[in-house]
Amino acid sequence: MKAYRAAILRFAADGDPHRCAIYDEDGLLVVAPGASGVPAVHAVGPYRELAARFPGVETEHLAGRIIAPGFVDLHIHYPQTNMIGAPAEGLLPWLEHYTFPEEKRFAASEYSAQVASFFIAELLRNGVTSALAFATSHPNSVDALFGAAQARGMRLITGKVLQDRHSPDGLRDETEQSLLDTERLLAKWHGVGRLGYAITPRFAPSCTPEQLRGAGLLAAKHPDVWIQSHVAENRDEVAWVRELFPAARSYLSVYQDFGLLRERAIYAHCIHFDEADRALMKESGAAAAVSPTSNLFLGSGFFDFRGADRVGYRYGLASDVGGGTSFTRSTPCWPRTTSAARRSRPAASCAPD
Ligand SMILES: [Zn+2]
Repeated sequence: MKAYRAAILRFAADGDPHRCAIYDEDGLLVVAPGASGVPAVHAVGPYRELAARFPGVETEHLAGRIIAPGFVDLHIHYPQTNMIGAPAEGLLPWLEHYTFPEEKRFAASEYSAQVASFFIAELLRNGVTSALAFATSHPNSVDALFGAAQARGMRLITGKVLQDRHSPDGLRDETEQSLLDTERLLAKWHGVGRLGYAITPRFAPSCTPEQLRGAGLLAAKHPDVWIQSHVAENRDEVAWVRELFPAARSYLSVYQDFGLLRERAIYAHCIHFDEADRALMKESGAAAAVSPTSNLFLGSGFFDFRGADRVGYRYGLASDVGGGTSFTRSTPCWPRTTSAARRSRPAASCAPD
């Protein structure tokens, strides 16, 4: 057992109606080996209340420092670690010239394992302890990332990317096999330790209606797994989806039509939305992964925070590496604290500014 004395920022437990942040200016964090032997939080709170309960416990005093929970990255691509900062004139050329050639290399298990272990180490080095990540279309890339995350005790959710059209040789998968692979990987990894599976259509243009339909059926059969994809990132992409799915009301409603909008569905970007899209996000319980540095880097546009708040649909921050340019750009939702609130009492709502 070991204790750390410092300023401590922490968050109320899940289910708390106020989603409050708590800030202890002089706090104590007591750590002890958990069930699996990995150090876990044993107690946390104001120093003056807790210290007497742990006499003799070695205490490290980190004066002037703040201890905070690990960051959550709601959308990131581990196969794009080696191409951060590759420039292009928008999303579609960027995919063609940089992303797809790099992702093809993950056909090799050895390469997948090497990048996965570097990627997990980078996340942890930047304070990210939970992530929702894309792998590639190769099943072994999923095994490699889950394996690396498991070895480091990470909370990681990922899945095999589905892309059975408009994708180059070496990345394009086969419809029926891609769904069989998804179900096999889901059964193997979902709920193992801190790992979770996400059904992962790359984005609507890269999936045939048959593949999207199959993904939707799997999502209905396994309501506790996540769904992740991209939507309404770039105007050219939106126009392309309109051509490919002329019967759909909007890009977002393509996913709705195939049963891919529900609780635990996380859609990256959500930039070029109208009011009906925002209402659909709210009604379905889906959430947006907002990736500001990626959106700026690729010139995609800006997420409408006010629009989301007005309708009341959920969103969180994400790095979107490699469209995003840094592992550090996934931040927790910082509380709007006032100096009066900074004394061991619940601070203001943690709704992002
Ligand atoms: Zn992305």
